[in-house]
Amino acid sequence: LLQLAMPLNFLGFVYREIRQALIDMHTMFELLHKDLEIKDVSNASELQVNGGEIRFEDCTFGYDERRPILKGVSFTVPAGKKLAIVGSSGAGKSTISRLLFRFYDLDSGKITIDDHDISQVQQASLRQAIGIVPQDTVLFNDTIFYNIAYGRPSASREEVEAAAKLAKIHDFVMSLPDGYDSTVGERGLKLSGGEKQRVAIARTVLKNPAIMLFDEATSALDSKTEQDIQASLNDVSKDRTTLVIAHRLSTVVDADEIIVLEQGQIAERGTHNGLLKKSGLYAEMWRRQLEVAQKVAEVEKAAEGE
Ligand code: ADP
Ligand code: MG
Repeated sequence: LLQLAMPLNFLGFVYREIRQALIDMHTMFELLHKDLEIKDVSNASELQVNGGEIRFEDCTFGYDERRPILKGVSFTVPAGKKLAIVGSSGAGKSTISRLLFRFYDLDSGKITIDDHDISQVQQASLRQAIGIVPQDTVLFNDTIFYNIAYGRPSASREEVEAAAKLAKIHDFVMSLPDGYDSTVGERGLKLSGGEKQRVAIARTVLKNPAIMLFDEATSALDSKTEQDIQASLNDVSKDRTTLVIAHRLSTVVDADEIIVLEQGQIAERGTHNGLLKKSGLYAEMWRRQLEVAQKVAEVEKAAEGE
């Protein structure tokens, strides 16, 4: 019986492995789907990053050419500086990050990194230069180790742990019975929004990119977690060119430049203090967020008193 059970067991194992592999490949293709639409030019060069200055020059783009989403957007993020983009939902903020990653090509205008037109370089080298912490991190049905090392598959155990420590998720991982070998994702451990973001931050740390792109989560995180994550990100993004798409204005106060995007156009730009002085859109958004923050604080205080 044992002789029979062994191969059956093995077959079951193989079947599960193959099914798992297929599911993971499916996820990968879904993730990479956009790549299939954008092709490298025939003599594309490898992007050489030196500092990582980002420049958008008069960029116009629409997912449907009849409906422009970005209309003549221009800005520069000098090497090592931080630019924040704020604005109401649907303004086109995430579209800017998708264009920087070249998930789509512009209808007109130009995006450069260190003066290299990103449409002329190998996509792989472009994506290698940019670390992204997205709104919703996709975790693979695999171990936490794999999910972090995905930022650089050749990474050693020590390097993965060092990245996890910087992202402040190491202690959490060590508290799990299987540690870094714990399976996460759809069929494993379900991580909270904050934990997933930390995995994404650790991935980015490992990748060690010149440019960091952070599309801030909105409602997924409570304000305490949000602040902690923000602190980690500030550590990690120090001295890197950073583009933050921000929903909470508390996270943009220290940005070198803030852009207020309205219906695909830059409505206001400046530093936090400069924009407050203008008493325009940004000042109004700031006032409203302070009000909300005060209400939340009152409610939290009342709840504590109960
Ligand atoms: P924001 O991040 O500022 O909330 P987005 O850049 O995600 O806004 O979206 C800007 C506009 O583009 C929205 O009107 C949205 O519906 C539209 N849009 C976003 N993604 C797509 C897409 N893949 N296909 C078509 N329209 C899209
Ligand atoms: Mg968005």
